Amino acid sequence: MRRTRNAKIVATLGPASSDKEMIRRLFDAGVDVFRLNFSHGSQSDHALRMEILRDLEKESGRPIGVLQDLQGPKIRVGVLEDGGYHVKQGDKLRFVLEGGKGTPDSIPLPHRQVFEAIAPGHNMLVNDGRIRLKATGIGDDWIEAEVLVGGPMSDRKGVNLPDTLLDLSPLTDKDRDDLKFGLSLGVDFVALSFVQRAADVIEGRRLIGSDVGICSKIEKPKALEQLEDIIALSDSIMVARGDLGVEIPLEHVPEHQKEMVRLCRKAGKPVIIATQMLESMVQAPAPTRAETSDVATAIYDGADAVMLSAESASGKYPVEAVAMMSRVIEATENGAGYRAIVDSLNLSIEHTVEHAMAAAAALVAENVDAKAIVAFTSSGTTAVRAARERPNVPVIALTPELEVARKMSLLWGAHSVQSDGVDTYDSMVDEAVRQARKEGFALEGDRIVILSGVPFGQSGTTNNLRVATVLRN
Ligand code: PGA
Ligand code: MN
Repeated sequence: MRRTRNAKIVATLGPASSDKEMIRRLFDAGVDVFRLNFSHGSQSDHALRMEILRDLEKESGRPIGVLQDLQGPKIRVGVLEDGGYHVKQGDKLRFVLEGGKGTPDSIPLPHRQVFEAIAPGHNMLVNDGRIRLKATGIGDDWIEAEVLVGGPMSDRKGVNLPDTLLDLSPLTDKDRDDLKFGLSLGVDFVALSFVQRAADVIEGRRLIGSDVGICSKIEKPKALEQLEDIIALSDSIMVARGDLGVEIPLEHVPEHQKEMVRLCRKAGKPVIIATQMLESMVQAPAPTRAETSDVATAIYDGADAVMLSAESASGKYPVEAVAMMSRVIEATENGAGYRAIVDSLNLSIEHTVEHAMAAAAALVAENVDAKAIVAFTSSGTTAVRAARERPNVPVIALTPELEVARKMSLLWGAHSVQSDGVDTYDSMVDEAVRQARKEGFALEGDRIVILSGVPFGQSGTTNNLRVATVLRN
């Protein structure tokens, strides 16, 4: 089974998508990577979904990527008197570290790091940014703030602090426990929420190791200041527009989205565009025109993947949302102008043998009208290099490791296959031809381009390019 598009689909599982039949339908409709969102549901809910996914992988014979998304240090107010109240412009509120009564002059905010780092003049946003406050006075265990924009304040609502660099680990105790659990389940990627600085990724790496991919979610303005370092240290990036759109003015989200995609493409790191892509499909069987255009924009930018959250996790039309996303991607990639737009980005990649070979593979594939680039890749690096060139043919990534094959499910244009390693040049050519034919990419008489690193099995080398023709066998 092969997909007929380059960009990938990440879909979140939740109450609307937890039985095997539904998960199979989502996969058949086009999901490449499934997201387990640990902000919701119990560990055993996620374990059941994981079991279904691994069964499905065996039955389908296709590597399936699983992304564990950790909740991260989300700041929340505590419990309020009578469940909450409305605050209005000009009100003076007081937040306290401990023992709050939950009244406007004693709102519990049980996060010590906030009191240590906030300064007068910093903005405080509550309830998805509906309520805007400005801190006016700070003590060891209290904050006074004035309401700039009023709204409903209620129990356990989230607090965003866009101006404050918090001395918070990106992993809370719950995250550490969930992470241990996720790693024991064998997830392929772990997403770190609310990353603020490069050091957060290093801390994550210490706990996660290097076999599982780290996806840093960019949803804090502080992260935008260290973007290139964060990208360099991560295996992939999520443009987490939900929280980002609360922390920075909404009108600036698109410009940052574009810049993040550009930097990730340059660095050869997969990038996911997330949140509200087809939001109206939570309730309706068809999206708005603006939503289809939003998906298409991500595709024109050259993003590796687009993501569904509530649409697939708790919406009424999970399968329709995946199918719609898939159709929009395919139509956009096949539409007039797409090639010119994707090719127009000058990546100015450094001049190394590896990059030159990958670029040459894309060029040769186009010039000889090849049906695919077959990349031999033990760590995935050769496939990443080939995909970064955004060639006009699919990249069949052959790797001996199932774990590597699963990780490439996120990579633009990659069709990964677990295949036995090769040890001679002739067996490499034979295996490339055999897989291209078996996976449905090439017929007798077709050409393929083979990209590899010789000697074989030495990860990181990409130094060999070969054109082969599929012969009668
Ligand atoms: P979330 O992350 O759904 O875990 O909040 C995505 C986002 O903030 O956009
Ligand atoms: Mn978020």
